[in-house]
Amino acid sequence: MKSAVYTKAGQVGLATIERPQIIEADDAIIRIVRTCVCGSDLWSYRNPDIESGHQNSGHEAIGIVEEIGEAITTVKPGDFVIVPFTHGCGECDACRAGYDGTCDRHIGTNWSNGVQAEYIRFHFANWALVKIPGQPSDYTEGMLKSLLTLADVMPTGYHAARVANVQKGDKVVVIGDGAVGQCAVIVAKMRGASQIILMSRHEDRRKMALESGATAVVAERGEEGIAKVREILGGGADAALECVGTEAAVDQALGVLHNGGRLGFVGVPHYNNRALGSTFAQNISVAGGSASVTTYDKKFLLKAVLDGDINPGRVFTSSYKLEDIDQAYKDMDDRKTIKSMIVMD
Ligand SMILES: [Zn+2]
Ligand SMILES: [Zn+2]
Repeated sequence: MKSAVYTKAGQVGLATIERPQIIEADDAIIRIVRTCVCGSDLWSYRNPDIESGHQNSGHEAIGIVEEIGEAITTVKPGDFVIVPFTHGCGECDACRAGYDGTCDRHIGTNWSNGVQAEYIRFHFANWALVKIPGQPSDYTEGMLKSLLTLADVMPTGYHAARVANVQKGDKVVVIGDGAVGQCAVIVAKMRGASQIILMSRHEDRRKMALESGATAVVAERGEEGIAKVREILGGGADAALECVGTEAAVDQALGVLHNGGRLGFVGVPHYNNRALGSTFAQNISVAGGSASVTTYDKKFLLKAVLDGDINPGRVFTSSYKLEDIDQAYKDMDDRKTIKSMIVMD
């Protein structure tokens, strides 16, 4: 079967590898129907030290269950499923508290990779996979796109708002105008925020966010951006949702909050030793981590998508075949597209 592999910094190719097999009793083999490129994949893509032939870090898909291990009771071959990037067990303390993105049992093995391929082995599948009614042919392309966001970006946007405890009437600032930031805007609206400001300087992204419920977009960055947000809100924000993963984004988030505000961060950190003590003088609550994909999908997000209440699939502004995976990465890296979807044959 074909699988994407990194060949050198700034280049992805295809390799022919063995089709994965069931190894453990709670494995499932999934035939991928749609997958995509994540903002976090670009860190591997750009890495100058990447070894040629390194497995892709893709981790978001929808697909068909092909085969199951003997311990699997929740899905059967032929089922259409969301393939989350996380692998919660559904039973440990963390999962029961709604933090399956950091399952207590699957530490270190809780994230998928290698999903930009024709088939994958999905471990710890019994609780983590989310069954979608019917078959892919029952859905429009637009609906398939929205279902695909439920593997990562939509639940990740949801997580930022959940850990920042966004409530009705809140003033919310979203830092990051990529797919997760766009989803965070959708969630802030779902949760009844009264004002939603997106930090963005790209016309297409500003437009999308305004259509999703953002009440203002701020192009300025740093101190200037913070001042602009405070001017629009007439003070600080109740919640800041950090969807980038850089120190500049965290500084931006902390800067827009009023004292006692809440920071939810879901950008995978690419900084070291940011001292927690720096928030002491502001009484800011800080929470964040890997999203609870399965919990949110099963509880609210799959229904919200199927009912047409939300349309997060709009973040996929271009589609490619697996053969064109290099272009799919390149266009995202060049910011020509918000998120690249891969359509499998
Ligand atoms: Zn992702
Ligand atoms: Zn668990």
